[in-house]
Amino acid sequence: MRKVAKASDVSGVPHNPPLSVTPVGAPEVERQAGAVDPLEMAQYQLKVAAERLNLSQNMFNMLRRFERVVTFCFPVRMDDGRIELFQGYRVLHNTSRGPGKGGIRYSPAVDVNEIAALAMWMTWKCAVVDIPFGGAKGGVCCDPRQMSHTEIERLTRRYTFELSPFIGPDLDVPAPDMNTNEQTMAWMMDTYSMGKGVTVLGAVTGKPLVLGGSYGRTQATGRGVLHVIAEAMKRLKMKTRNARIVVQGFGNVGRNVALIAQQEYGMKVIGVGDQYGAIVNPKGINVDDLAAYVDRTGRIPGYREGDPISSQELLEVECDILVPAAVENQITVVNADRIKCRIVAEAANGPTTPEADEILRRRGILILPDILTNAGGVTVSYFEWVQDLQSFFWTEDQVNEQLKKIMVRGFERVWGLAETEKCDLRTAALMIGVRTVAEATERRGLYP
Ligand code: NAD
Repeated sequence: MRKVAKASDVSGVPHNPPLSVTPVGAPEVERQAGAVDPLEMAQYQLKVAAERLNLSQNMFNMLRRFERVVTFCFPVRMDDGRIELFQGYRVLHNTSRGPGKGGIRYSPAVDVNEIAALAMWMTWKCAVVDIPFGGAKGGVCCDPRQMSHTEIERLTRRYTFELSPFIGPDLDVPAPDMNTNEQTMAWMMDTYSMGKGVTVLGAVTGKPLVLGGSYGRTQATGRGVLHVIAEAMKRLKMKTRNARIVVQGFGNVGRNVALIAQQEYGMKVIGVGDQYGAIVNPKGINVDDLAAYVDRTGRIPGYREGDPISSQELLEVECDILVPAAVENQITVVNADRIKCRIVAEAANGPTTPEADEILRRRGILILPDILTNAGGVTVSYFEWVQDLQSFFWTEDQVNEQLKKIMVRGFERVWGLAETEKCDLRTAALMIGVRTVAEATERRGLYP
């Protein structure tokens, strides 16, 4: 049974029926108490922005729907000879401003609503930082922790083969997301290229450097998160040096947030967690050492230089900056009253439900919204795509300098609009994203 607390259960939150049903036979996803269906969350946010922007009903209807939803079931031969069936997805939300762009997620929690919400957020995110892509997302419902390297390779190759008619450098460009990485992108690029008979570097981003990847892509999301945090701290007259930061998630994004916060900003990382548990140490955790430990053991719990706590307790540790960098639905009605920080920096997509958002705002906690805060990843993915198309590659300094410019400019636009509109940063970011895409759609006109 799908267990979902509906956004419509909260007074004042309008009901938006889900756009799509779970495909026949696809596994159903359970969500914890307080959790909201991500698609309802995304559509609610769109409605808030559309009302403020006085968007026409026609435009609202176009933006709340999806250009293409591909769902398919595909077989993979497992190491023991069994054939297992997996449900794969790729959703294209809107391509008014350019090809689709968005990550590929492997997780047992993947369903069509989650992927659709993530695709819609990608559309606004690209518009907020003004890069010429539309929004897309993909994923496979699977548990990569239970699969071998070769099984994941076969799954990736079959998934890519099935998707080949729908992706490509001018059409829709995948990238890594949860439980996918440079290696996954290398297999995707290779499989796509085999079908075309030529090497197509620009088909996916987040690839290894030797295969047309970009310097700085692995750190890009984390680095961008820190640019946004640092700008916000300037406005709040907070010092970055020795600021206490807690990071939930220690994958590509969380690990780099923690490392860069400590090494480049002199922050004190006092709590870190992953899906297995968390640790806290008020004196500060040596993130480099922890990273080496996680590389050896695959998990945070067991690391000695901190006291063990649960992933949920981690979110309630008193700190200056809390960075959810794992999954959706982490700050909900259930725990929003117990969050004790000055800033929540959303490195993950959709970590805060609309109800929790309201509670945090009332409590004076500043939320740096996902569609701005984690846009560094797609920004350097854009740089990678440009480099691949031109076969001309940049230095790490060039990448990081351009990334900083784009993130700071994005922050300034959002902060400025929030001041003139007297609204929160999420609403301002959504207004910029939605307005930009609406204008692009309007100027293109309707074909025929
Ligand atoms: P990842 O797979 O590399 O790491 C995910 C981390 O979160 C792991 O440490 C995992 O153990 C932890 N985790 C998973 N479920 C958890 C739970 N329920 N509680 C606590 N920890 C949990 O993924 P990633 O690429 O770092 O992505 C993390 C988030 O950032 C996602 O929301 C993703 O959409 C978003 N994001 C990623 C990128 C990118 O470039 N990779 C860009 C923008 C946004």
